[in-house]
Amino acid sequence: MNILALNCGSSSVKYQLYNWETHCVTAKGVAERIGVGESFLLHKTINGEKKITEPTLADHLSAVELIMKTLTDPVYGVIKEITEISAVGHRVVHGGEKYTKSEIITPKVTDTIKELSVLAPLHNPPNLAGILAVQKLMPDAPQVAVFDTAFHQTMPDTAYLYAVPMEWYEKNNIRKYGFHGASHLYVSKRAAVMLGKSASECNLITLHIGNGVSVTAVRNGVSADTSMGFTPLEGAVMGTRCGDIDPAVPLYMQKILGKSAGEIDSVLNKNSGLLGITKRFTDFRDIERQAKAGDKLCELAINIKVYRLKKYIGMYTATLGRLDAVIFTAGTGENSALLRKLTLKGLEHIGIDINEEKNLATNTSSGETDISTPESKVKVFVIPTNEELVLVEDVVAVLNGAYTDHMRFPYSFVK
Ligand code: ADP
Repeated sequence: MNILALNCGSSSVKYQLYNWETHCVTAKGVAERIGVGESFLLHKTINGEKKITEPTLADHLSAVELIMKTLTDPVYGVIKEITEISAVGHRVVHGGEKYTKSEIITPKVTDTIKELSVLAPLHNPPNLAGILAVQKLMPDAPQVAVFDTAFHQTMPDTAYLYAVPMEWYEKNNIRKYGFHGASHLYVSKRAAVMLGKSASECNLITLHIGNGVSVTAVRNGVSADTSMGFTPLEGAVMGTRCGDIDPAVPLYMQKILGKSAGEIDSVLNKNSGLLGITKRFTDFRDIERQAKAGDKLCELAINIKVYRLKKYIGMYTATLGRLDAVIFTAGTGENSALLRKLTLKGLEHIGIDINEEKNLATNTSSGETDISTPESKVKVFVIPTNEELVLVEDVVAVLNGAYTDHMRFPYSFVK
């Protein structure tokens, strides 16, 4: 059985074709610059990489069409007919309060994804466009929506409500939703395996640190709190997003600069975070390199970023009570030994003790690694994330009717 996982962004479509029987990714790639011009598709298989350039992929339908054509290409394709794809899983960013688990896509589900576009105007419309494209090209294939927000629907109201007028929640859906759900879910399940316990026995803090950053407190295997909020702007310091900020600041700056709300929103999302502080860089590798060479703003950006992460670990340790492990994942979390070392420095009093040499030697290609000392009361794991596998396993779980309870994902993430 071949399952296609699709992640449709505003101008890109990422894909992975997974063979369920052999547990192998047979092809993966990305269609870029959709609707922008100079579009291309980068397609990878075990036999190598192929770049297909297209003057313009006008929309998501043309992109998905090109992906299907490439997957069935006689030379660099991996299947003969598109009908060899049994089902398609879509990453959908916002499922609101409606969806606590992945869902088979029906007209009702597509309507809800559309309705929820008000909460995720940049994400849900391209997610929906991908679903509609597959419906048109493969009308018989079942499709499943895997919501980023679903994993966090277990948060208690004390964690997800903001202290604003209750009518804002009741009438306008203002609350914390949380994001990166598939990643937090995946690494917490894998951490449970590394701890030799069932997920429902584990209290964890999972740090997804890529361009976007979110920290989640996992109590008994489910999300108890998370740093991203109503939108993915809240929380940690990110590549270009500011994270936590006094809400009075944007209102004040809007007045001072004579800018519109939209313009200030754009500054907070696109010109803040590491880019805002350093004035130049979003990539953590550049910032580490420049800091080493003596750039004071880069050094400051690193210090602000790790200070904020440390605060989240402290807060979530306090709220969880018992903590079994801290997990680092995503581009920076998996690859920056410096970030991990500085974030955990001084946390010995809560039982965190890392093996410095192991930390230094660990990156994505190391696979799942325990970088704590044998004496460390709280384990520290580096776990490469695999959001696509969550999509694939969820498609199978939903189609088999195998969802049981909040623990979700009856499969154990085959490796
Ligand atoms: P996203 O999916 O949010 O775009 P990724 O998980 O791909 O992000 O992570 C991208 C980030 O990972 C980049 O900011 C990059 O700086 C960082 N990164 C990748 N490799 C390294 C490395 N070796 N050291 C430090 N940071 C790294």
